[in-house]
Amino acid sequence: DRIIGSQEQDDDLYALPKIRPQFMQDYIGQTAVREQLSMFIDAAKMRGEHLDHVLLYGPPGLGKTTLANIVAQEMGATLRQTSGPVLDKPGDLAAILTRLEPHDVLFVDEIHRLSPVVEEILYPAMEDFQLDIVIGDGPAAHSVKIDLPPFTLIGATTRAGLLTSPLRDRFGIVQRLEFYNEAELTQIVARSANILGVACEQLGAAEIAKRSRGTPRIANRLLRRVRDFAQVEGQGVITQMIASAALNLLEVDPMGLDKMDRRLLEKIIANFDGGPVGIESMAATVGEERGTIEDVIEPYLVQQGFMIRTPRGRVATTKAYQHLNLVATEKD
Ligand code: ADP
Repeated sequence: DRIIGSQEQDDDLYALPKIRPQFMQDYIGQTAVREQLSMFIDAAKMRGEHLDHVLLYGPPGLGKTTLANIVAQEMGATLRQTSGPVLDKPGDLAAILTRLEPHDVLFVDEIHRLSPVVEEILYPAMEDFQLDIVIGDGPAAHSVKIDLPPFTLIGATTRAGLLTSPLRDRFGIVQRLEFYNEAELTQIVARSANILGVACEQLGAAEIAKRSRGTPRIANRLLRRVRDFAQVEGQGVITQMIASAALNLLEVDPMGLDKMDRRLLEKIIANFDGGPVGIESMAATVGEERGTIEDVIEPYLVQQGFMIRTPRGRVATTKAYQHLNLVATEKD
C-alpha cells in the first residue's frame, strides 16, 4: 500500500474510532459544505421532516463517511452503512430498507458501483419511499409494494459523473468535497495528535500537513508514522525536523508526491514528450489501473498544477519539469 494512498488501509481502521470527528464543530474545513448542510439539517428539524437525500462526491479520504456520520448524529438519527459493491442482489438492499426507522440515514459508499438491478430498487425508494420488489420466479412470481419510512440516503462517490443520471437526479442536495488547504490540515494533524496523546509542535504538524496531498486520511496516517519515528529517533516530540526526516525516509517529498507520482510525471515527459497522452496509454506505461490513476493519483497532481487534463489527454506542466529537475524540449 502506498503510504500516501488515499484509500482506506487496515491500519487506518484501527485508529479511526478515536480520531474521527463526531460533531459538525469538530469537522475542520469544507466550510461551504458544512454551512449549507447545517442549514438544511436545521430546516428539516424545524419541519420535523427527514433530510433530503444527499450526494457527496470527491476524492477518497476527504471526509465523506465522516460527514455522513455527523449528519445522522445532528439529525438525532441512526446511521446505517453499506456500499455499492456489497449490495449484490435487490434483496440485499430490500433487507436494509425494510429495517429503517423514520428519519434514519442510510449511507451508501461507492454508490456508483451499484448494479443496475439494485439501482432500480432505489429509485422508488428514494422518490416515494416505496419498495417495489418481485418475489419468487416463474409463473408464481409477483410484485409487492411495501411502504418505507421516510429516510435520508447519503451517497458517496469519487466523481459525480460516474452516476447514472436517473440516480443523480434523485438527490436533492449535491455537495462536492475539496482538497484541504495546509492550514486546515495542520489543524487536523494537531487535533489528532492531541487525541492520540502525541506531543506535536505547530511546525511539525505543518510539515506533515504540507505532504498530505490535501487529504485528512493521509495526514492522520503520516502522523502515526512520524510518531513512530519521533519515538525512536527523537524524544517522542514531533518537531519540524523530525517530521521532515521521517517523511523523507518514507519517500514522501516536500510536495507530498511519492515514487508513483513522480514516475507518472516522468513517463509523460520521457515517453510522450510531455503529452498529451491518453489515460489508457498512461495506465499501461506505469502499470497501474486506470481507475486508480483517475481517482487517486491524478486529482492531486492536477490540483497542484503538475498536470493538466485536455480533451486530447494529460499534459505535464512546467511545474512538473521543474519539480523533477528536467528541462522541456522545444516543440514546434
Ligand atoms: P471518505 O469517506 O471521504 O473516504 P473519511 O470520512 O473516511 O473519508 O475520512 C478519512 C479520515 O479523515 C477520517 O477517519 C477522519 O478521521 C479524517 N477526517 C476527514 N475529514 C475530516 C475533517 N473535516 N476534519 C477532521 N478529520 C477529518
